[in-house]
Amino acid sequence: MTSADKAVCRLGSHRVVAPEGALPQAAWKLDATPRARANEVLCRVEALNVDSASFRQIAQACDGDCERIGEHIVATVRERGKQHNAVTGSGGMFVGTVAEVGDDLRATSDLRPGDRIASLVSLTLTPLHVERVERVDVTTGRVWIEGSAILFESGLYAKLPDDIPTDVALAVLDVAGAPAQVRKLARPGQTVAVFGADGKSGMLVCAQARDRVGPSGRVIGIAPDATTAGARLLLDEGYVDAFIEVDATRALDVADAFEALAPELADLVVNCVNVAGTELSSILCAKDDGTVYFFSMSTSFTAAALGAEGAGKDVTMIVGNGYTKGHAETALQTLRDHPALRAYFTERFGRAGG
Ligand code: NAP
Repeated sequence: MTSADKAVCRLGSHRVVAPEGALPQAAWKLDATPRARANEVLCRVEALNVDSASFRQIAQACDGDCERIGEHIVATVRERGKQHNAVTGSGGMFVGTVAEVGDDLRATSDLRPGDRIASLVSLTLTPLHVERVERVDVTTGRVWIEGSAILFESGLYAKLPDDIPTDVALAVLDVAGAPAQVRKLARPGQTVAVFGADGKSGMLVCAQARDRVGPSGRVIGIAPDATTAGARLLLDEGYVDAFIEVDATRALDVADAFEALAPELADLVVNCVNVAGTELSSILCAKDDGTVYFFSMSTSFTAAALGAEGAGKDVTMIVGNGYTKGHAETALQTLRDHPALRAYFTERFGRAGG
């Protein structure tokens, strides 16, 4: 039976080519035929925002060469029908224009052909067809393509806001889950540690944590270099109270530096790095009964679980679900509420579209 003969499923299982019975995220291969089935939305894709952990891995494998990165992505999509990095397991998101809304959705969906949207579900489960890679930007992980993608009935999306440039909105929406989760997790008076503080998600998290913990709380940023423009902005604007310049893969160095600064340790640790091997550092910075939120896609469940056990740390560890209710609006609002952050994101990502 071809995927066109299968009954449509809300979660998109009718698009799974292999293995039989899998859902799209877990599947090895999807059918990315660019035609909307009854419960699907077909989009013309303008750009992919490749997940940071994935892009870093691809860029390293291609020696940072834009042409080879483009070819790598085309090859993955041709083989799997989706941009699913087999090494990191992560994907990203797309921005594009609605081309067709399937028959069954027309009455209920608020999408119409011509609407510009950003997908809020991972590229690891999104049927994707790439005709051509137009440009790759290694500094932002942005890849402009000609192609198409399918959103399932269950697929989340955000209409692009009028007041924020598309490239900036895309950078924010890619990591929307992080600031929105932190808004829910952080409490007044708490100490919050943010790993990868000067990256996209890290900066939004710092701003959101600062608002939540208030004047009696502390936000401590952690990244390898305290002199980056992002790190300086966090300090200058008071989004962080202190910045620890350390390689987060070096758990003992991190623990020593953090304990010197905050002997009580952190109530909440948020891991926003794009490299592997930082689970134990994060765990060691959390106080007993504290919470560690692993937003990073480079997180190993095994390393986190066994690391916490080995260190005798009774901490709650949260898998970084990219979705929480209202996450897109919370993330965009974080930018609107913080003009300095907005200026930084606009400078850094706003011109990515050229
Ligand atoms: P990003 O902008 O590339 O930032 C990565 C951060 O990690 C930077 O601050 C970087 O510092 C820092 N970092 C790199 N190596 C480090 C090290 N050895 N020690 C300490 N910090 C280090 O990434 P992003 O877009 O915010 O994404 C962050 C993570 O979230 C990635 O793993 C991404 O895959 C993941 N993600 C998860 C979801 C989800 O749904 N859970 C969704 C989107 C993205 P430098 O700038 O100094 O290198």
